[in-house]
Amino acid sequence: MTPEELSVLYEKAIDLTQESNDEKELLEMANSLSALPSSIKDIPELHTEEIINALINRRVIVLHEKALKILESAYDAVQKCNVLSHNNDKKYYENGKRLIEDYTIVKNAVEELEPVIENILNEKAQHNARNVLSVLKGQMQILHGLHLEKERKMKGKCLFCGGDFKGTFNKVCTNCGKKKSY
Ligand SMILES: [Zn+2]
Repeated sequence: MTPEELSVLYEKAIDLTQESNDEKELLEMANSLSALPSSIKDIPELHTEEIINALINRRVIVLHEKALKILESAYDAVQKCNVLSHNNDKKYYENGKRLIEDYTIVKNAVEELEPVIENILNEKAQHNARNVLSVLKGQMQILHGLHLEKERKMKGKCLFCGGDFKGTFNKVCTNCGKKKSY
């Protein structure tokens, strides 16, 4: 690496510590500086270690802010769940498309929020995020159950276990023994 290249790299690194909102870019730069040979990175005037720390700290904050945004959209999904929970009766979901749409909204919110909860620095906000996640997971289960039931009904299977019915008038599940209820 020429001295010119080196000075470009360090200038870029310092810029990133102040203005980058891209966690990948920050991590890559921290790794690039760490990977420099000791003969370079141990030169005191370069302050390599401080710059690496600043890059890592900035990344922590970027990840935190990103997680808060995801939490906000998860709140929106919960709001929608609240609307739904009044309509959790099966009538509302007789329209199968609506059921799948709502299930997808809730599932996406869970999948986005779960992996970033640890990135939330504020303890209270992290606690809220865990509550939101558990509400969403509960709703996901309810919707999944409704979907399963719908599918079983469509295929003429037992609502409880998905087994086949036997009998002509009083149909009974061959698997769990429950009567056909529809
Ligand atoms: Zn059954």
